Amino acid sequence: MKKRLVILGSGESGTGAALLAKHLGYDVFVSDKGAIKAAYKTELDAAGIAWEENQHTLAQILNANEIIKSPGIPEKSEVMKAVREKGINVIGEIEFGFRHAGKCQIIAITGSNGKTTTTELTYHILKTAGLDVRKGGNVGNSFARMALEDLKNRSGAAAQRIFVLEISSFQLDDIQQFRPKIAMLLNITPDHLDRYDYKLENYAASKFRVTMNQRRGDKFIYNGFDPIVATYRVISSHPVNTNTPKPIAIRKGFFKNGQIKVGKGVYDMTSSALRGPHNMFNAACAIRAALLLGAAPGKIQEALNTFVPPPHRLEKVAEIGGVSWINDSKATNVDSVFYALQAMDMPTVWIVGGQDKGNDYSPLLRLVKKKVKAIVCMGVDNSKILSVFGGMKKPMVETGSAKAAVAVAAGFAKKGDTVLLSPACASFDLFKNYEDRGEQFREAVLKMMNDK
Ligand code: ADP
Repeated sequence: MKKRLVILGSGESGTGAALLAKHLGYDVFVSDKGAIKAAYKTELDAAGIAWEENQHTLAQILNANEIIKSPGIPEKSEVMKAVREKGINVIGEIEFGFRHAGKCQIIAITGSNGKTTTTELTYHILKTAGLDVRKGGNVGNSFARMALEDLKNRSGAAAQRIFVLEISSFQLDDIQQFRPKIAMLLNITPDHLDRYDYKLENYAASKFRVTMNQRRGDKFIYNGFDPIVATYRVISSHPVNTNTPKPIAIRKGFFKNGQIKVGKGVYDMTSSALRGPHNMFNAACAIRAALLLGAAPGKIQEALNTFVPPPHRLEKVAEIGGVSWINDSKATNVDSVFYALQAMDMPTVWIVGGQDKGNDYSPLLRLVKKKVKAIVCMGVDNSKILSVFGGMKKPMVETGSAKAAVAVAAGFAKKGDTVLLSPACASFDLFKNYEDRGEQFREAVLKMMNDK
């Protein structure tokens, strides 16, 4: 009898896993508690895969030989409790992709902030260097989908294939054998703690799982000046403590006078579109990985000069009347706002707020005092922001839409200033997601520019 694989959740990862499983000949069933996007339904139907939405029918799920769980589904959910009780093996889509990706080299990039930027940059460098490389994971195509494409088209020198994968902590929670040749841990700051019993050590342990199957000869590139990484690297029980993979720390001082020093090489960043010290760090990690895979330094420099950073991350939207408008909608936690404010070199009108995730804003106080001239709150409930920053005697205005926030910010900003949307919060109170928030901001700014 065919092995039955049930896939819980049908976003990009679930759909990718379902398509791969079907191709491999499994009996596949997809179950999603919410609505499945039309584009994914079309793909599932075209492949002849059975699915359900807006419910989990346990009778159809608990007869699985194995379950692939989407990263968004928490262990505390009713369906997962039932699955665990039944003792069915549960893996994530990353594990499933890994099982079937064949011979290849994997760079797995994790951390609280900077994953997408570093994944995109690493990919761009390797591509520019002429290597056979793909990117995906938590961003863009799922690993399973890429593995499927490769299975269909696999040719000659398979071992040369490189996958650059962005990996979230939720995805790491459901790996078993996943073993990257190069693992990267960019930083750890408190985030998503609701999924980790509100314990930083649990979240940190999840991040360190990226190294758990690495062996001698593999590499572990990590942030050598992040205190939380340092703490948990020491107390983590993962094999990194036995130095199984080679640890490579990027340490303070790697960036001076517009140049990044990695190993014996020096890379000029003055022509790069990347901004801020955090992005210099991301670049140092990407360069390290590229060198390990044999990219030529000249090609790396060329790629640094031509890289276009992904949108919604310190993205310059426009300059209007000498005011720079910057969209950092992806800054959904306090730490990324810390880095955004640090990168500001002009008086800043700061648009902040949204759905609070139990934020502690105190790390921002010094920077806000120094760099911010006015605060524009953009959220349904702005009370916490008003109370934390209210004492600074800076102008503060509450708004309830991107359009209103842009209009108010324009009133505060003078020639030479910067308006920065860097919310520190989730977007779901007023927007569909952070992309929607960033796009509405961009639209409002561009409309204002055109109306002038
Ligand atoms: P992720 O995929 O981990 O969410 P992104 O590259 O999308 O990371 O960036 C998310 C936010 O974090 C952006 O606001 C960006 O400016 C900020 N950021 C990027 N790299 C770093 C870093 N190394 N440290 C801290 N913040 C960063």
